[in-house]
Amino acid sequence: MRILVLIAIGLLLYVIIGNLLRRSRAVPPKEIAEKMVQCHHCKLHILEQEALRSGDKYYCSKEHLETDQ
Ligand SMILES: [Zn+2]
Repeated sequence: MRILVLIAIGLLLYVIIGNLLRRSRAVPPKEIAEKMVQCHHCKLHILEQEALRSGDKYYCSKEHLETDQ
């Protein structure tokens, strides 16, 4: 029974440390540049650099851009 508790604590620490490491690595300047925008038509989230822009609106595809015109 005590071994199970130790394993549970070990797993918990593993998850917490894993999350902390991931979070500290999560915000390099590159990721800020890769801004997410939302398609005005279907609300899909896409990278700003891959999105099609029409005025101040973004679209995931040419079809949605044209549908909304
Ligand atoms: Zn769309």
